[in-house]
Amino acid sequence: MKKSMHTLVAGLIAALMSSVAFAYPDKPVTIIVPFAAGGPTDKVARDLAEAMRKHLNNQTIVIDNVGGAGGTLGVNKAAKAPADGYTLLVHHAGLATAPALYRSLPYKTLEDLEFLGMINDVPMTIVGRPSLPANNMAELRTWINANKGKINLANAGLGAASHLCGLLFQQAVAVDMATIPYKGTAPAMTDLMANQVDLMCDQTTNTSGQIESGKIKAFAVTTPKRLTTPALAKLPTMDESGFKGFNVTIWHGLYAPKGTPKPILDQLNAALKAALKDPEFVKREEALGAVVINDNRVNPAEHKKFVEAEIAKWGPAIKAAGQYAD
Ligand code: ASP
Repeated sequence: MKKSMHTLVAGLIAALMSSVAFAYPDKPVTIIVPFAAGGPTDKVARDLAEAMRKHLNNQTIVIDNVGGAGGTLGVNKAAKAPADGYTLLVHHAGLATAPALYRSLPYKTLEDLEFLGMINDVPMTIVGRPSLPANNMAELRTWINANKGKINLANAGLGAASHLCGLLFQQAVAVDMATIPYKGTAPAMTDLMANQVDLMCDQTTNTSGQIESGKIKAFAVTTPKRLTTPALAKLPTMDESGFKGFNVTIWHGLYAPKGTPKPILDQLNAALKAALKDPEFVKREEALGAVVINDNRVNPAEHKKFVEAEIAKWGPAIKAAGQYAD
């Protein structure tokens, strides 16, 4: 009698738990994007939200743009949000470069977040204002050498992908440039098109349209191989432009605050996996030069391991460059 009562209570609890998980989400979910609206991180988050919501009771997914400090403000907001599945974060490789760049971060990268899986790999492009006199990488190098001390380089703040790529680019050409930080590369792109800044290195998801329509100049892609996307196929790689071994690919991932209940994490991971196979999502990403991830990095444990490896990979290079924020 005692035993069957116990079984009944356990059954009731299990049923209650699964109905709680099943009911999730029963109100809109917010995804924090740690950069301005209209940029590469924002674009992938919005497209992903559209693909994921079909697998999350068709709930609305709201994007909250929290730009500033190279993405660290947005990460901090996500890390401190209630761990109930209603606040998520989409971020790029900056999550792994920030620990080396900031002497003190208000959050612990590997401890304060749940890793839900990775989304895409995105090449970057070295681009310039339309009025630049250079039309290819050789001419750009000549122009850079002739204008030392006067060149500026836009980025999305210390720790952003554009900052990292810009840092490697300055090392490659052995010329220091003044960096101009924005809250994201969408506003930086506006200034680049208006000839307000000279150069930028940014994801193809933000540059391919402007390159195709001739609104900016493009000099190289940062991947070891040329891209196949029609708008970008004619661009040489940095490696073939004389910068041997230059290789920057930026990845994006999905996160939740630490302590989000496991059934919700499982549901979000399943929705992410389904979204990454959504033909519409895949088509949009490919058209912008991005590659949707469908390997084991879509699993939370592998995602976390990958980020740990990226922290170890970029740390020494960043420290050697002597770049710090407080
Ligand atoms: N693509 C930008 C960067 O990495 C950030 C953004 O605006 O999405 O610098």
